[in-house]
Amino acid sequence: MSIVLSESEKKIIIDSIRDIKDFPKPGIVFKDITTLLNNKEAFALLMNHLEERYRSYDLDYVAGIDSRGFIFGAALADRLGIGFVPVRKKGKLPGTTICEKYELEYGFDEVEIHIDAFNNNHEARVLLIDDLIATGGTAVAASKLVCDTKSKLVEVCFLLNLEFLKGKQRVEEVAPVYSILDI
Ligand code: AMP
Repeated sequence: MSIVLSESEKKIIIDSIRDIKDFPKPGIVFKDITTLLNNKEAFALLMNHLEERYRSYDLDYVAGIDSRGFIFGAALADRLGIGFVPVRKKGKLPGTTICEKYELEYGFDEVEIHIDAFNNNHEARVLLIDDLIATGGTAVAASKLVCDTKSKLVEVCFLLNLEFLKGKQRVEEVAPVYSILDI
């Protein structure tokens, strides 16, 4: 396991992610991580790296952003022996929620978290995770939700950072950010 990924290890992960042009609409290059998930070498390398990095963070929960953040977040939480919390798109969570609205290119979207997601533990140390950061709108809204529960947002982690959109800088105003691959 390595706390710092070598260039060749990064290449294994990046080469496992497939670009799908013009999805979900013309002009977007969609980063498809399903080809990372079905590549056991790349997936294990990524999860080993995340486990190694966050083992020393004394975390209580990993919160994952709907929906690909659930995959990496739940796998990491299990490896660390801690709880997992989903941050979901509006209308999916059954209990009492708090909600945060954020702006999209056209219109708005909303994310939600159960108000008692971290068992009302204000000392709880939380890592927030998603697969990719683009404009940062989703991650800023999700970060605010974690902060609104009064638990401690320790770091926000992404597999991929689309640097040209400068979303990472937006999230850094709320919490420390770690991106594994800046592209
Ligand atoms: P944003 O709020 O603009 O940072 O968008 C981030 C969210 O949208 C993440 O949950 C990503 O999974 C998804 N997303 C945005 N752009 C892409 C892309 N080019 N490829 C794959 N997923 C994307």
